[in-house]
Amino acid sequence: MNIGWIGLGNMGRVMAENLVKADHRLFIYNRTKIKAESLVNIGATFCEDPSKVVYLSDVIITMVSDDDAVKSIYSSEGGLFENGNAQGKLFIDMSTVSPETSKSIADKCEKMGAYFLDAPVSGSVKPAKEGNLVIMVGGKKDVYEKVVPVFNILGKKSLYLGDNGSGSIAKLAINLLLGITIQGIAESILFAEKHGITREEMMTIINESAVGTDISQIKTENILKNEYPAAFPLKHMTKDLGLVKNTGTVSPLAKAVEEAFRLALEAGLGEQDVMGITDYLSENKFSKLT
Ligand code: NAP
Repeated sequence: MNIGWIGLGNMGRVMAENLVKADHRLFIYNRTKIKAESLVNIGATFCEDPSKVVYLSDVIITMVSDDDAVKSIYSSEGGLFENGNAQGKLFIDMSTVSPETSKSIADKCEKMGAYFLDAPVSGSVKPAKEGNLVIMVGGKKDVYEKVVPVFNILGKKSLYLGDNGSGSIAKLAINLLLGITIQGIAESILFAEKHGITREEMMTIINESAVGTDISQIKTENILKNEYPAAFPLKHMTKDLGLVKNTGTVSPLAKAVEEAFRLALEAGLGEQDVMGITDYLSENKFSKLT
């Protein structure tokens, strides 16, 4: 199968690499060309614009930042829908975007005689590299079934969830839980620390208790060092919690975490890891939370 891949950021690059290593012919595009170099070195072909990728591929996968990036990649000049190459092709968007964007692109694909799946992922760069993502899929079931072998290379599990937009809804739900969990860990250790329990003691207690999770284990080292190099950047979490809010969700925890992450982003922590919310919530900054 000839596969097209658009978006070679932190996630896209390692995911695309797994497809090349599994002997798929890959046609790639990234706005910043230099990021394609490592993939070209292992056999992928760089295309000068997205419409060329469509021309050469049967399945075209996008993995870019957000709704605006996805809309631009599909609909701008030189984009995926240009030059009449889309008919009969299958487009898969694995970016985290709003269900409305997924549905709108699905409608455009249908009008052009093309197919579309929204298939965002749970798991960050390490699981992506190891092919251990969880993939949540919305669209037509028979279309999903045709590309299960591709999903099996990229992830440890893919789930078909219903019509277009369902994958995006499921992704927002899991990231809402992730945001709540991350902020919960941060608040717990900061509260304990304020009253004389060290971070090390508290992280041991959390990890050994019923509320210890993979995520608390993974983040322990950074919490103890109080250093947060991005695995999953805070700016992406803030975007996702904003998308939850835009669906009309006003549940108490969703509201609280969206506000905290948004303020942390405004304070300049966007490029840090999500766990960097700890830094923002540390004592002298609590007062900024309303
Ligand atoms: P990233 O490292 O910030 O990369 C973003 C990619 O989008 C780059 O290839 C960038 O191109 C491209 N892009 C952005 N705006 C564009 C535009 N207007 N036109 C064309 N290309 C554009 O992001 P990432 O971490 O790979 O995440 C990608 C998606 O996966 C996001 O939706 C994110 O929420 C989701 N996700 C991320 C993680 C994670 O741990 N990082 C985990 C699960 C899901 P340039 O290289 O030219 O900037």
